[in-house]
Amino acid sequence: MMTTDPADNPQVAQVAEGLWVRVEVDTIGWIDMGEWAVVIDTHESRSIKDDLFAAIAETIGDKPVRTVINTHTHYDHVRLNRAFQKKYDSEIVNQKTTTIPPDGLWIDGSKRRLLVQPMVGCHTDKDCVIWLPDCKVLFIGDIFGWGLINLMGRLTERSARDILAAHDKTMAIGAETIVPGHGPMCTNAELARWVEYFKWLHGEVLAAMDAGKKDKDIMRDVAPPADMHDWWRFVQWKHEHSVDRMIKAIRKGWREFPS
Ligand SMILES: [Zn+2]
Repeated sequence: MMTTDPADNPQVAQVAEGLWVRVEVDTIGWIDMGEWAVVIDTHESRSIKDDLFAAIAETIGDKPVRTVINTHTHYDHVRLNRAFQKKYDSEIVNQKTTTIPPDGLWIDGSKRRLLVQPMVGCHTDKDCVIWLPDCKVLFIGDIFGWGLINLMGRLTERSARDILAAHDKTMAIGAETIVPGHGPMCTNAELARWVEYFKWLHGEVLAAMDAGKKDKDIMRDVAPPADMHDWWRFVQWKHEHSVDRMIKAIRKGWREFPS
C-alpha cells in the first residue's frame, strides 16, 4: 500500500472555525483570535515564505499576526519568526523569549482564548503545547513523533518516567484534534498507542538481550507492529531508529519500565 506523505504535497486544511494548518514536513498553524491572529511554529525553510503569507491572507484576510508562538525553538520551528516580525511586528512567544508559568499563559482575543502550556520532559526542557478550549484543538510540537522516541536527552528509567508523565498530562487536556509539529494530525488514541508501543519495545528488547541475542539480530527480529504500519514514516525509518535507541538505553542499564 502506498501511504501519502504530506511532505510531498503541502496541504492547507481548516481544522475548526477560524483555525487553519499547513501540513507538510513541518506544520504551521494560524488562528483568528478576533481582530488579530496567532501563528504557531514557523517552519525550517525560508523558501515557503510567500506561499505561507498568501495562504494566511486567503484564509483570514488582512488581520495582522500579532503573536507567533513556537512550541520550542529548534530550527525547524522558528525559521520564519523574523519574517513575521518584519511584516507584522509580531511578538514572539516561546520558553526562551517569555516566562511561561507552570500553569500556562493565557492569550485572550475577542473571539477566543488559547493557553500556552509548558510540557517538558518529553522532547526538550523548553517545550510548550498550545490549547484551544473552544474547539478542543491542541498543538503539541514534537511531543508526539509518529513512532519516534523524541527525547533529546539520554533515555533511562528516569527520563522514561518523565516521557510517560508528559503523555499523561497531554492526553488529560481533553483534545479532540491533535496537531503534531511534523506529519498528519491525530488524536489521543495515537498518543496512547505510542505509550503502549514504547513499553512493548522496552520489554521485547530486554527479553531478547537477556536471551543473549546480538544487537543486529534484535534489530532484525523486533518487527514494527502491524497496526502502526501506516504511521507517518514509521516503517521507513522511525521504528528502526526507536529499536536502536532502546538497545543502547538497555545496554547502558535501563531494566525497569516505570509503572
Ligand atoms: Zn524539536
